[in-house]
Order: sequence, then structure tokens, then C-alpha cells
Amino acid sequence: MPIESSHPMAAKSRPKSDAPGASDRVSRIREGVTAAILEHRLLPGTKLGEDEIGEIYGSSRTLVRTALQQLAHEGIVHIEKNRGAFIARPTPADAREVFEARRLIEPTIVDHAVDAVSPAWINRLQRHLAEEREAESRGDARASVRLSGDFHRLVAEMSGHSIYLGFLKELIARSSLIILLYRRHDTPACGTDHHAGIVAAIRKRDRAAARAQMLSHLNEIEAELFLKDPAADELRLADVLGP
Ligand SMILES: [Zn+2]
Repeated sequence: MPIESSHPMAAKSRPKSDAPGASDRVSRIREGVTAAILEHRLLPGTKLGEDEIGEIYGSSRTLVRTALQQLAHEGIVHIEKNRGAFIARPTPADAREVFEARRLIEPTIVDHAVDAVSPAWINRLQRHLAEEREAESRGDARASVRLSGDFHRLVAEMSGHSIYLGFLKELIARSSLIILLYRRHDTPACGTDHHAGIVAAIRKRDRAAARAQMLSHLNEIEAELFLKDPAADELRLADVLGP
């Protein structure tokens, strides 16, 4: 927090962030930026001007900064000293870490989802699949990419595991940036058929199948990415040019 934290005016704006509704306004900014990332409306590297965001959301700089810092903590915003905040640009190594983490927690999440299965949940998942198919058939890429992420979030909500849900929300937002930067083809992030397979396995309470389907789904998404490792290139160059 350069400039203002040491500025005499900083003390005056502080009570604002404690005012009722301040945390709601911080959440609104966070959710707005995250939704724009999920729909690929905000691209990696985009500058997030504090004043502009403050105007859009009718919020003080203090609140905007709090929101941006929280987003930075989640790895979807990058704050550069004296330059401000930008939408993060995950590296191939970051991408691999994100997918490794997803492979670790999402099979466990579907396990919990199988425990929570009920007609109401199956109904909700199926309504979601219908929405995904509809967005796909009308060629709405933004809605498709958002709904893909929402599917994974919905399964995590179903699991009832709030810590996994928190992790996954962050991982999905980061995945959205990764897919935008590194996907090979202009295909939607997730195949609706894969999602339907996962729902079918959950419905049958078939834990092993649900886990396996989730895992192969995540592997396929990662395989669709072109994660070129600059370090590997340097190595190859050294091999070629070395004695
Ligand atoms: Zn998916």
C-alpha cells in the first residue's frame, strides 16, 4: 500500500472500511472482477485502476485496495510496487501447480458429493447441465466458460465441505486465466459430456467411477493446454550450443 498508508489522510478513510456494508462492498468488487475473469471479459495483464474501480462500484480507494489485495492473495491479481494492480498472468509452472492441486482435491470433493446425493441435488446438477448444453448450442463462449467453472463449484457446494469449496473457487478463477492463456484450440474449457458422466456416477453413488471420471476430465483439460516451459527451452539450447 504505497503513498496513502503513510499519508495523514489515511486515518480519515480508515473508519470507512469498518462502516456497515464495507465488507459487502469489498465482496462486490471481488465478485465483479472474478466474474469478469471467469467470463474471459478481463484478460491477463489488464491494469486494474483503483480510481476507475472505485467509481464503478461507488467505493473508496481503501475498499478497492482491500479487494485487490484479497484477489492478489488468491493469485488472480498481481500487484506491482508503484505500478498498481493487474490481472495475473500465470506461468506454465503455475498452471501445472493449479491442475495438480485440482487433481488432488476434486476427486475427494466428488466423494463427499456422493455422500450428499439427493433428488434435489441431482435435479440441480441436471438443470446446470441443460444450461451448459444450451450455451454451447447457441455458441455463447462466455456463458460456456463461466458455466464450466460453475459446474465444478456446484459439485463442491454439494460436497458441503466449506474449506474445499474455498480452495476450489480460487483454483477455478486461476484455471480460467490459464485456459485463456494456454489452450491450444478454441474449444470450451470443459466438455459437457464429461460433466454429464460425472453427474451420472454421482447419481449412482458410484464413488470409484465419479473419482475416475473427475480425474480423467481434469487430465484432459490440462492436456488441451500448451504449457511450454521456458526453462526446458534453455536447457535444450544449452545442449545444442554447449561443448
Ligand atoms: Zn469441467
